[in-house]
Amino acid sequence: SYVLGIETSCDDTGIAIVDTAGKVHANVLESQQEFHTRYGGIIPPRAQDLHRARIADAFERCLAESQLQPEQLAAIAVTTRPGLPLSLVVGLRYARHLARRHQKPLLAVHHMEAHALQARMEHIEDLQYPYLCLLISGGHSQLAMVYGPGRLTLLGETLDDAPGEAFDKIARRLRLYVLPQYRLWNGGRAVEHAAQFARNPDAYEFPLPLARQRNCNFSFAGIKNNAFRAIRHQERNERTPVDGIISNYSDFCAGLLRAVSRHLMHRTQRALEFCLQPEMNLFGQAPPTLVVSGGVANNDVIFANLEHLAKQYNCRCFRPSKRYCSDNGVMIAWHGIEQLQHGIKPVSSHDVDNIQVEGSAGFHESAMER
Ligand code: ATP
Ligand code: FE
Repeated sequence: SYVLGIETSCDDTGIAIVDTAGKVHANVLESQQEFHTRYGGIIPPRAQDLHRARIADAFERCLAESQLQPEQLAAIAVTTRPGLPLSLVVGLRYARHLARRHQKPLLAVHHMEAHALQARMEHIEDLQYPYLCLLISGGHSQLAMVYGPGRLTLLGETLDDAPGEAFDKIARRLRLYVLPQYRLWNGGRAVEHAAQFARNPDAYEFPLPLARQRNCNFSFAGIKNNAFRAIRHQERNERTPVDGIISNYSDFCAGLLRAVSRHLMHRTQRALEFCLQPEMNLFGQAPPTLVVSGGVANNDVIFANLEHLAKQYNCRCFRPSKRYCSDNGVMIAWHGIEQLQHGIKPVSSHDVDNIQVEGSAGFHESAMER
């Protein structure tokens, strides 16, 4: 059967149709990046306007691309939490409208859970529950055991910023966007690219956060503040013009990427050791498996390091394909498929008003508390 997925939790309008086998029949994604970069960040009412202006057209294109009729859908899945409330309601209202009009049941989807389950869509044969998931994105940094849709146990999360947020803020402060090739890129992608051209990759060194804490929490605020300080120091030394960029920005990016990567590995190592203790054995009969997901999972350096770490623990390592790491409608549709397959009852088209958004104004709230 087919499920339609609608994602509008932040600044991407995503609508997609996925079937039970994990085949993607349509994937429409409208990014607002170009608009928001002009203002140096997301302005929630503007994000809402853009979702509203685009959502109906995105749905029509999704249907056309899939060559399916609404009658053929088993259900409609929509992100209801967490995210920007103004953005979330646009997707939910449209989902309610479609559910009523075509008499389809509605499924509420937790955005972070959708990130966490997405890798299964493409590895349905060999990625079984439970697994350890490192969720790294623009708003979150979490380690969780994943047992199924709606069944996650949090092992640790960030005490302050998320890694994607840190990349974005530091890249903006560094003014990487003045370079034409990075103008429309997110901070993480720009830092990853620039780091490849470092001539002296060890020029910048940032201290390892929470080095002595024996838990699975994260902290990126220290790296961020140290990075800001290092940029300011270098700008003074070089007398960089106000709208310019320090000359050794590639070296800086290499140091930053290494710092973030080391911290993620350090915390993931701790989680792996915890899960693999014989008296714990959280994986049960399943082979020990690490899944990396969320927008920061796009990063090849970070993923390669985590893969290497996992191998040392005889642990398999997966991530979604790049096009599904960042926000998209496919992961919402896939979460809907998983819900149906795990016997979670959708809300009937007569009761769609019972589903409501549970937004979070900022992006620092912990996910997955249900
Ligand atoms: P959340 O999922 O926590 O609600 P979000 O949906 O805004 O946040 P995602 O779309 O999952 O976040 O991810 C976006 C983040 O991923 C951005 O902060 C961006 O900097 C980061 N990112 C994207 N590509 C890369 C990359 N190659 N390296 C590092 N970070 C990256
Ligand atoms: Fe996301």
